[in-house]
Amino acid sequence: MISSVLIIYTGGTIGMKEDPTDGTLKPFDFSQIKEEVPELNKFAVRLDSYTFDPLIDSSDVEPSLWVSLAELIHDRYDDYDGFVILHGTDTMAYSASTLSFMLEGLAKPVVFTGSQLPIGVPRTDGKENLISAVEIAAAKDETGHARVPEVCIFFDSKLLRGNRSTKFSAEAFNAFASPNCPPLAQAGINIRYNSDLIRKPVYWDAQLRVQSHLDTRVSILKVHPGMTPQVMRSIVTDPGTRAVILETYGSGNALSKDWFIDILKEACEGGKIILNVTQCQSGTVNMDLYATGASLKQAGVLSGGDITTEAALGKLFCLLGRTEDNKRVKTLLEKDLCGELSK
Ligand code: ASP
Repeated sequence: MISSVLIIYTGGTIGMKEDPTDGTLKPFDFSQIKEEVPELNKFAVRLDSYTFDPLIDSSDVEPSLWVSLAELIHDRYDDYDGFVILHGTDTMAYSASTLSFMLEGLAKPVVFTGSQLPIGVPRTDGKENLISAVEIAAAKDETGHARVPEVCIFFDSKLLRGNRSTKFSAEAFNAFASPNCPPLAQAGINIRYNSDLIRKPVYWDAQLRVQSHLDTRVSILKVHPGMTPQVMRSIVTDPGTRAVILETYGSGNALSKDWFIDILKEACEGGKIILNVTQCQSGTVNMDLYATGASLKQAGVLSGGDITTEAALGKLFCLLGRTEDNKRVKTLLEKDLCGELSK
C-alpha cells in the first residue's frame, strides 16, 4: 500500500511566489503543490494539503496555532502515515518543541520544514527541504512502522529532533542546529537514519492524545551584566507568572549578589518555578560546579540540564496546563519526557 502524507501550510517564506503583476512575494495556492514542485510526482506517496487561514509570518505564532495544529493532526491521524508542516523559520523551533510535548503517544512522523528563500525563486532551498521532508514523513521500516515517529525539523540535509533544535543562522541555508543531540538522519545520496537515536512509541497502536490546554504564565529572563534588582523583581515576582526560565551563563552561573539570590529565594519559597537554562548553544547546566551556581540551587532554582530555551518554554506550557500542582510540575520538569534532555 502506498504511503500518504498530509502537507500542512501555516505560512512563512517557503510558500511564497513572485506575483508577475507587481513583483511582490505572495503565498501560492498549496492545493497546486505538485505543479509548483513536480518532483513530488515521482514519489509513490499520496499527498494532500491543508492551508491555514490566515497564513502567518511565524513571528506572529501564538499558542492557539499550536492547539489548532495538534488538533488537526489528531483529527486526520488515522488517514495519513505522516505529516509535513510548512512553517516560517523564525519560530519553527518553538513550534516543533511544543508540539512534541502536546502530541502524547505519537507513533507517526511530524516533520517541520521551511526555507530561507521562497519556493518560487530559482535558488530556493525550499524544494529540497520539502521533498526530503515528504520522503521522511512517508518512510517506513522493515516492519511497516514509521521510521521517525517523532516531531522533528528537516532543514538543509539534516533531520533534527524538534525539541532539541534552535535556529542559529538568519542567512545560511544551514539555519538550524541541535548542538546537544546528533541529527536523527542525514540526507545525501540516500537518507541515512540514525536508528539508535530515534525514539519509538511505547505502543505503536496507542490512541494519539493531545494536551491542548497550555498555561502560558511563563517568562524568560536572560541574565546579563548590569541587571537591576527592579527589573529582576518585576519579572520574577510578578503574580501573573507561575514559572520563570532563567537563562544563565555557562554551566548555570549567575550573579552572586545578595539581592539577586534573595529575590530568587523569595520567589521559590512562594511556590514559583525557576528553571535554570544555559545561554550557551551547547552543553549543560551543572549547579554543583561553581559557587555562583550552587547558590542558585540553594535558593530553590531547578536545573534545566541541557534543555533548549525553546523546549523549556513548550514543556512548561504543557506541564502547567496539565496541573495546578507546581510540585508535580517540578518533578516532571527534571525528567526526560520526549527526548528533550540527555540522560
Ligand atoms: N519571518 C519568516 C517566518 O518565520 C521567515 C521565514 O519564513 O523563514 O515566518
